Parts: sequence; structure tokens; C-alpha cells
Amino acid sequence: MASSKPGISAFWFRRDLRLQDNRGLLRALESGNSVLPVFIFDRSILDKLEDRDDARVTFIYDRLEALDLELQKFGSRLLVGYGEPLTVWKNWMKEFGFEGVYCNRDYEPYAVQRDHMVAGWLREQGVTFQSYKDQVIFERDEVVKPDGTPYSVFTPYSRKWRNRLVEDPMVSCRLPNRPSFVALADTAMLSLSSMGFERSSIPMPSDSVSSDLMGDYAKNRDFPSILGTSRLGVHLRFGTISIRDLAKQALQYSDTFLNELIWREFYQMILHHHPQVVERAFKPAYDQIPWRNDPEAFERWCKGLTGYPLVDAGMRELAETGFMHNRVRMVVASFLSKHLLLDWRLGEAWFARKLLDFELASNNGGWQWAAGSGCDAAPYFRVFNPTSQFKKFDPQGSYVRRWVPEWGTAAYPDPIVDHGFARERVLRTYKAALTTNSEG
Ligand code: FAD
Repeated sequence: MASSKPGISAFWFRRDLRLQDNRGLLRALESGNSVLPVFIFDRSILDKLEDRDDARVTFIYDRLEALDLELQKFGSRLLVGYGEPLTVWKNWMKEFGFEGVYCNRDYEPYAVQRDHMVAGWLREQGVTFQSYKDQVIFERDEVVKPDGTPYSVFTPYSRKWRNRLVEDPMVSCRLPNRPSFVALADTAMLSLSSMGFERSSIPMPSDSVSSDLMGDYAKNRDFPSILGTSRLGVHLRFGTISIRDLAKQALQYSDTFLNELIWREFYQMILHHHPQVVERAFKPAYDQIPWRNDPEAFERWCKGLTGYPLVDAGMRELAETGFMHNRVRMVVASFLSKHLLLDWRLGEAWFARKLLDFELASNNGGWQWAAGSGCDAAPYFRVFNPTSQFKKFDPQGSYVRRWVPEWGTAAYPDPIVDHGFARERVLRTYKAALTTNSEG
């Protein structure tokens, strides 16, 4: 290990696992100190994961190994810690005596609290803690109404977002030719098993999208049997690609794609201004809906055994690959909250457990949208018909046949609930709850 030297700063990787166009990393390198890149496997996150072969852990692990290799080209290494972040920092401070700690901002409520705690302790030790905007184009209060209040409707938000982009164009940053990293000669990477995890067998999607796919995105993106979307969610989640580089590509090839990237920032903005959505409905009246308690129905939904082919295909795709197509996410989420009348938070938690691209803000936003309780959500009386969605978006049945091979045979279950009955039940139940609570 390197001995404690004056003039060392740390760059703390979190959800920005790349060297190029990494704003906080560049600022750290510009600070004049040598920079030691670090990452912490955070036990307060890892210990809560239910699956020992969680694919996200494998993804991060592999990405850290790749980063370490990249850093070796600069004579450095990645220092990886494991534990509660504050404890790890206390140990590292004893060993390295950092003068400054740099990172990129993470907006999730847990991360904000963690950074507040770590930054507070470091500052008490006389160490500067600097954080930068990196994982979004516009953060927090950068796109607000003229009176300074946050938007809760997407269309005016997106208009303002686009205007801001004209005023404040994106600038990507590259690593200097000779970055001054700390020469850390010897550091052993922890193994997955030492943290109690096993390698996942789920393959990772590519970290780039072709201009052809983007060019056809508007035409193809609603059809789950076509590889018509980028599958870059996991890379955006962990920052293995730059949002600025991706948005520039979208500006060139697909306005519809850019719009989806704006949705991502819209939901992050909503979570920042309304952190209560993590627990509660954005529209409070929706918390009065008397959700059914039916663990068996929930289990059939999770396992893809509802007897509704598009729903079942989506749920099985999720279990096997960690991915589900956006159109199908909307259908299965609507099915859980409306057809089964089960609390959307159950489905949200299942997605959080299984999705490779799980993102608290987008997941919560998507679920509340489908349940009707979210900002700018579909009106409650819009109940997706899973059979007509199937006919419209998988007309040849090829997506369904891929994930539900027994569909059409005696082995396939009967529908868990009749569509007409479920529709009438949810409309009646929602209406009663929302009228009583004056949001009908
Ligand atoms: P593409 O269609 O290629 O889009 C590119 C990127 O734009 C995505 O990777 C994502 O970062 C962003 N994006 C696209 N659509 C949306 C959207 N509607 N809202 C916010 N961002 C969007 N997205 C997540 O990233 N994480 C989640 O946990 C998540 N949970 C969802 C839950 C439900 C119930 C619903 C209806 C949607 C959810 N989404 C979530 C949004 C969307 O389904 C996924 O972003 C998209 O399917 C990911 O596939 P892709 O990378 O091929 O997306």
C-alpha cells in the first residue's frame, strides 16, 4: 500500500463507474493533488439484498475490475472498501490522510443522508468534501416553473428542459493525457464470496446503442418482440456510460429517445422535491384505496402464472433476464394494481429486487403512474386491457411464445380474474375511495 503522503485527494466512485466524462473525477484531478480512486461496497445496501446472486452486485463487481485495469494503465489502482461508509472513511483517513474527497452527487434519499454524514465527519477533520452534478443533465432546481416551484406535469417540464439545453449546452469532459493518480502498487480486490454473494448468470446488455436503433426507436420502441430499445438502463443507473454522450447521440438521431431521457430526469426531480413518494402516493387520496390482501395472487403475478399471456411473458422475462420492456412494465403494473387490486408498493418492491436497471425515482414514478396515484399519472378510470394490449403490441405472439412456451396448451393456467369483473371492481373501489377523499 502507498504510505500516507501529503497532497492526496480521494475520488469516491458510486454510480459513475467510468473514467471518461466523469465530472467529479476531472475536478479531483484538477485540484493539484494526486488522486486515489476509491469505491465502497456499502453493507447498509448489500445486507438488505434478498438474492445472493443479485445481478447488480455482479455487474458492479465486474465493472470495478475493469476500472482497476484501466487505472493500472496510469500506474494506479482502485481501492475497494467494504463496510459502513463512515467506518470505511475513518479507516482510510488514518491510512492515507486525504486532504479532499471528491464525488458526484447521488440524489436518492439514502445517498443524500449518507453523504451528509460522511461529509460532516470529513469536514470536522478539516477535509474538504466536494460533490458535482454528473448523472443528469439538469438536477434538482435547475428546471422549475418561472415562480421557482417544481413542475408536477411532464410536458411543461420537458419544454423548459429543452429550452435550458439551448441556453446551457452540454459539455463533455475527458481525462487529461497524464492524469495524476496515486501510484497504489498493491491492493487486493475483495471476492464476491467474501461479501456473501455469488456470481449471477444473467448476461449484461451492451453499453452502447447504434444510430440505426436510435433512428428507428420511435417506430419500434413499443413492440417487445423487437430489439427496439437501447437496454442502457443499467448503464445509466451505474454511470458506466455518460448521460451527456447519450443525450448528444439522441439529439442527433431521435427526439423520442431524448424525451425518454427527460422522463428520467423528471422523475428524479419529483423524488427530490417530494421524497414522501417513496412511502406514499403522490396524490394523497390514493392512499385511502382499500387494497386487497391476497398473497396467492401476488405470487402468481410474480411467477408469471396469471393466465394473461402478455403479463406472464413480462414477469418471466424479468425473472430470467432482469429486464422487462417498457410497454410490458406498464401492462403488468396496471394489472397488479387494477386487475388484482393489490397495493402498487408490492409490485414496486418486486421490480426493485429484480430489475437490473432499478432506479428508485423511475420505478416509483412508473408504478405510481400505472396505479393512477402519481404526478401526471393516467386517470384512474383508464384500465389497460391486457388482452387487447397483447393483440396490439405482440400481434404475432412471438414475444409471448418466447417466454411462455406452454401458452395455448392445457398446461397454461386459466385467467386469474375475469377482465370485465376486475375492471368493474377497480372502478367501483377507486371511485369510492377517491370521491370520499375528494380526488375523484
Ligand atoms: P429505452 O427505451 O432505450 O430508453 C433509454 C433510457 O431512457 C432508459 O434506459 C431510461 O434511463 C430512460 N427511460 C426510458 N423510459 C423511461 C421512463 N418511462 N421513465 C424514466 N426513464 C425512462 N426505468 C428505470 O430506469 N428504472 C426502473 O426501475 C424503472 N421502473 C419502471 C417501472 C414501471 C412500472 C414502469 C412503467 C417503467 C419503469 N421504468 C424504469 C421506465 C422504463 O420502463 C425503463 O427505463 C426502460 O424500459 C428501460 O429500457 P431501455 O434501457 O431499453 O430504455
